[in-house]
Amino acid sequence: MSDYDFDLFVIGAGSGGVRASRVAAAHGAKVAVAEEFRVGGTCVIRGCVPKKLLIYGAHFAEDLKDARRFGWNVPDCGFEWQTLRDNVLGEVDRLEGLYRNTLDSNKVELIGERATVAGPHTVKLASGREITAKYILVATGAWPVTPDVEGAEHGITSNEVFHLDECPKRIVIVGGGYIANEFAGIFHQLGSHVTIVNRSSTLLRGYDESIRDRLLQISTVKGINFRFNAQMERIEKDKDGSLHVHFKDGDPVSCDVLMFATGRTPNLDGLGLESAGVELSDKGAIKVDDYSRTSCESIYAVGDVTDRLQLTPVAIREGHAFADTVFGDNPRTVDYGCVPSAVFSHPPLAGVGMTEAEAKNRLGTVKVYTSDFRPMKNVLAGREERALYKMIVDATTDRVVGLHMIGPDAPEILQAAAIAVKAGLTKQDFDDTVALHPSMAEELVLLK
Ligand code: NDP
Repeated sequence: MSDYDFDLFVIGAGSGGVRASRVAAAHGAKVAVAEEFRVGGTCVIRGCVPKKLLIYGAHFAEDLKDARRFGWNVPDCGFEWQTLRDNVLGEVDRLEGLYRNTLDSNKVELIGERATVAGPHTVKLASGREITAKYILVATGAWPVTPDVEGAEHGITSNEVFHLDECPKRIVIVGGGYIANEFAGIFHQLGSHVTIVNRSSTLLRGYDESIRDRLLQISTVKGINFRFNAQMERIEKDKDGSLHVHFKDGDPVSCDVLMFATGRTPNLDGLGLESAGVELSDKGAIKVDDYSRTSCESIYAVGDVTDRLQLTPVAIREGHAFADTVFGDNPRTVDYGCVPSAVFSHPPLAGVGMTEAEAKNRLGTVKVYTSDFRPMKNVLAGREERALYKMIVDATTDRVVGLHMIGPDAPEILQAAAIAVKAGLTKQDFDDTVALHPSMAEELVLLK
């Protein structure tokens, strides 16, 4: 008999926590997971999944217009936000059910309340009950940060945006990152007047500059408004509910919904980590080693709460590697090299490996190949919008060290191409592959 109630107690049933729980249980561990909200975490409940479904819904706006050029008699179509919203939320419910089933079928005990750390081997539930475990895994994710500005309480975040009563006629989105650009695309397609307010003049820091510039150019032409280098002063709310965002310089912007998309911070408030001596980084994330172990031997952490790479598939890998290491007699670390990522903006963009600027800094001499083209479908549809693919090659070894693209289906294409970049293939290997014609992806093997 173990001295503890459980072999593993997981706090947080999001992507990382659920994966770790079920794999540890499959390795024979007795596992419990506590979740204070809903099973599935940010990705399933109020992130990647409902967001992607809204993007599919929003895309019909252009598809229905384009369909006429392809011979379809499309009558003027109306759009009902409530139908899309409710169907998306229904799908979220279904997926949550599947996540619950997974835990159940792996004999993981789900405890539907908040748990905090009360010592190296002890957690305390909101109900007051204390539970002991040989290991504790913290997988509590991250939470939206909102800027410290007068009237900020009138704004929402990505937590609330999926539940809006109406599709806003005017929306201001603060931030220039992933969430801002994705929701700008969604609401613009759904007919809202969209303004992105950014504190600098840079969108999507970390992505290749040419790709970011292309997104800005396309978004501007579509009619999304941008306020760069904008310092908010205060937000006022009228009796009729409309909001006015005032800036240090320039005219105020009025809207019906103000959304903050200004980053996410590790979710650690009141978690009791100090009771077990768990150290935090300067950025307020849990410090972990390569095996996700914290400064307390019996406590591990995975996912956004550790702020390594705030991406769902990374959290899942970390959770899996943790379970294999601690319960599967198979110590494993996660390889963070060449992790592909995408922004589901309109059009979407995606990248893997080094940007041109990074490669020049790190390698010295690089070769850059680009293809700037109008996708066939856009040509017939009469859309001027151009795609841009960019390949960065180490001039000394001919190895492809970065691939970046914006255009229809860019994330779908990049996921496959990322295998080649991760495998260290050369430009010659790409050139040796026969093009698949006619496709957009063939541009990758025809770069001159
Ligand atoms: P991001 O880190 O992508 O972007 C945050 C933006 O907010 C930046 O433009 C930043 O400006 C700005 N900002 C930060 N603080 C302030 C402030 N106090 N006042 C005004 N502006 C501010 O965060 P998101 O919220 O968009 O997304 C959070 C994370 O979620 C992402 O980092 C990503 O890891 C993940 N995510 C991934 C998605 C995907 O994979 N497709 C989709 C959605 C989210 P500056 O550049 O100047 O710092």
